[in-house]
Order: sequence, then C-alpha cells, then structure tokens
Amino acid sequence: MARLHLFDMDGTLMHGSSASMELARELDLVEEIQELESALLRGTLDPPGFAERVYELWAGLTEDRLKAAFEGAPWLDGIREVWTEITERGEHCAVISLSPDFFVGRLREWGVHEARSSVFPAVPFAPEAVLDLAGILVPDSKVGIADELCALYGVERADCVAYGDSMSDAALFEMVPTAVAVNGDHHVSGLATHAYTGRDLREAFALVKQRDR
Ligand SMILES: [Mg+2]
Repeated sequence: MARLHLFDMDGTLMHGSSASMELARELDLVEEIQELESALLRGTLDPPGFAERVYELWAGLTEDRLKAAFEGAPWLDGIREVWTEITERGEHCAVISLSPDFFVGRLREWGVHEARSSVFPAVPFAPEAVLDLAGILVPDSKVGIADELCALYGVERADCVAYGDSMSDAALFEMVPTAVAVNGDHHVSGLATHAYTGRDLREAFALVKQRDR
C-alpha cells in the first residue's frame, strides 16, 4: 500500500520554533514577533491578520537573510533521510504549513514531493507587491489540501500518515488513521496514535514504518 505522509513544519520538522521566529531572529524583530505569535495563540489575531502584520515587518527581508534564517533554524536531524526512505518505498510525502511559501518551499530541495503553504510575494518584496489574503492558509485549510494531495497521488484518507505538534494539526489528525505527535502539545496528544519526543525525525518515522513489516 502506497501511503502519503503529511508533515507540519513549525514545531514539527523545526524544534520549538517557527519560520516567523527564525526570520525575526535574523531581522532582530524577536519581541515584535513574540507579541504577534501570542496574539495568534490567544485568538485575538487570525492567520490573515498575522500575515498582514509580519509582511510589514519583513519589508527589509533579502534572499541572503532568508537563506540564513532557513539554514540556521533548529531542524530535526534526519529529515532528508526520512524523505529519501519514503521515496524509495514508492510512497509520497508533503509539507503543509501555514508559514510563508518563500520559506517552506525551500524544503523541496531536501526531497519532499510537495510543499503547500501561505502565498506571499517573492523576496525581496517589490514596492508594488501586494499581499493577497486569499492565499494565506488557516488551520482548516490543511484538511482540504490533504484531500487535494490524496487525489494527486491516487490514495485515500485511510492511506495518510500525519505528523504535527499543535492546534493547527488537530483537524488533520482527526481525518487520518495514523497521526504522530512530534514534540506535540495537549491539542494533539489526545488525537495522535503515536507520540515522539526528541530531535530526530528518523525515530518518529520508525514508530509508523513498523506497521509494514
Ligand atoms: Mg506546528
């Protein structure tokens, strides 16, 4: 059976951090982003509102600083190896993230088959560029995207494995038979079929690959 593996990025592939936080560190805007991220958690700011604010904050972002933020992020070990193994098994893998496409899309170079994320103007942002809020994902978007990816690869929801850490993964965890909480919080721990705490994706993947033996 060919399975489809669906990975969250912030807090899952990246340990205890997010694309926004890593960009903030690079641009020296940590306090500003912390404030926006806690407003997002409290629900006083929604993902499109968050995107509008960070888009303004990232006005000075360059390709070099984006690359530095991406490369300096606290990625779990073994991400490329897991995606290679999935590919060698004839299975598929995708990242679905609410974070910006200019950051998430870089994961394609590590071998993930699809990366779906919030659509932002290209970096560096041109003066005439406009952020289209229709392209900003919300947590519920993950389910629709997972269904699209199922259709793309000719599999069913029953063939999906989800990996996530927090509230934005809860709806996805409810729709798939196998869900791995990776350093997960209380929003996903009760919905997950497997739980992993640590910094090596190969160990999280080992929990679900045994099913095939
Ligand atoms: Mg996450």
